[in-house]
Amino acid sequence: MSNYVELRVRKFGGIVVEYGDQGIMLDPTRNTHSYPTFVSHAHSDHSAAFKHPGREKYATQETFDLLEVMGWKRLGGLKPIKVGDTVKIDDIEVKVHNAGHVLGSVEFEINTPEGTVLYTGDLCTEDTFTMDPATKVDCDILVIETTFGAPMFNFPKRADVAVEIYQWAVNTVLQGRIPTFKTDSIGNAQEVISILNQYTNLPVVTNKSATRVTELYRSKGYNLDSVDADSDEGKDLLDSGKCAIITPKGSKPFRTNQEIALTSGWATIMGRKRVAFPLSDHADYKGLMGFIRGVKPKRVLTFHGGNFTKDFHNHVRKTLGIAAAPLTARIETISGPKMSNEARINACSRQIIRTIRIPGFIYQPAWLVKEMSRQGFTSNETENSIDYLIERGVLKGTPDGVKLT
Ligand SMILES: [Zn+2]
Ligand SMILES: [Zn+2]
Repeated sequence: MSNYVELRVRKFGGIVVEYGDQGIMLDPTRNTHSYPTFVSHAHSDHSAAFKHPGREKYATQETFDLLEVMGWKRLGGLKPIKVGDTVKIDDIEVKVHNAGHVLGSVEFEINTPEGTVLYTGDLCTEDTFTMDPATKVDCDILVIETTFGAPMFNFPKRADVAVEIYQWAVNTVLQGRIPTFKTDSIGNAQEVISILNQYTNLPVVTNKSATRVTELYRSKGYNLDSVDADSDEGKDLLDSGKCAIITPKGSKPFRTNQEIALTSGWATIMGRKRVAFPLSDHADYKGLMGFIRGVKPKRVLTFHGGNFTKDFHNHVRKTLGIAAAPLTARIETISGPKMSNEARINACSRQIIRTIRIPGFIYQPAWLVKEMSRQGFTSNETENSIDYLIERGVLKGTPDGVKLT
């Protein structure tokens, strides 16, 4: 039972949005809450809830189908949603919008009597060869990803990158080598196929999961022309050398005359040592800033950043004048963070350590919450303490719970 009535957001094995005694869970990475669960898209850092077939998940059919073609087993519990849908959970109403990132990717607009939270998942803010830009939705609290949230990530115009890509591909073939694009199987693979289809006559050969995902895009109405590397036609094309290859990032070369290029937002900072094209299905710095300006939030909470982007919230504050902070286990409200009592968290953490004693045994957070409530700690205090102990390396989060490190 919660101590608070107002709208609150925090991170606890995923993103938790609560209002009164109700709550929802967005893109959980651990099995922490029994709250209704929403999954934004198929990339594995967002879709881990699908490892629990018994748990119901609101997600698009495309997200589910992508996981299936990526080889996920025991998929179940899908509650299909699509852009434009609204899901009502008592006082909380969740609206589904396009996120512009990959096939089936969505943002969630969470409306409560007190205000609105917008959760972007991963987003792309510009028109791409395969997706429409992320929808801008007015909100009070914006929870936004910041993968490329630093000024040095300033992507060139997509049309210019497309020219570079097809010119390099054609020139490479003219030199007797096969241009090979190492890409994410979901998203960038289909972007590059689209570019080559549109601007060249080069046949495109796909490999492994790039083939399966592209087939799925086709079945959803995308006009993408490519053949699989293991098909007769694919083998003939590879023998002739007059084609381009799209292959997953981690895959090994399978022909001796391949010329490798990488397509990724990270190309922006990779220097000139290797061939790399800054093509991304994420927003860059100015894309993120423009999006934030467009949705007019009172408070911005960031997630998904790395070392490069740890100052993004400061940029938001300075350039846009909007309160911003990284999303942590701390409870956030429209008016600001709720400071948890440090002495209480320390006492609760000590109690948890006394309770978790069996090495290797996985403890369910819900069970710990119950145990700690007997000692007088609230569920928020217990959950904050669990995260505190994970951050300090005392506990380790697993898909099913926590254990001693
Ligand atoms: Zn993603
Ligand atoms: Zn992501």
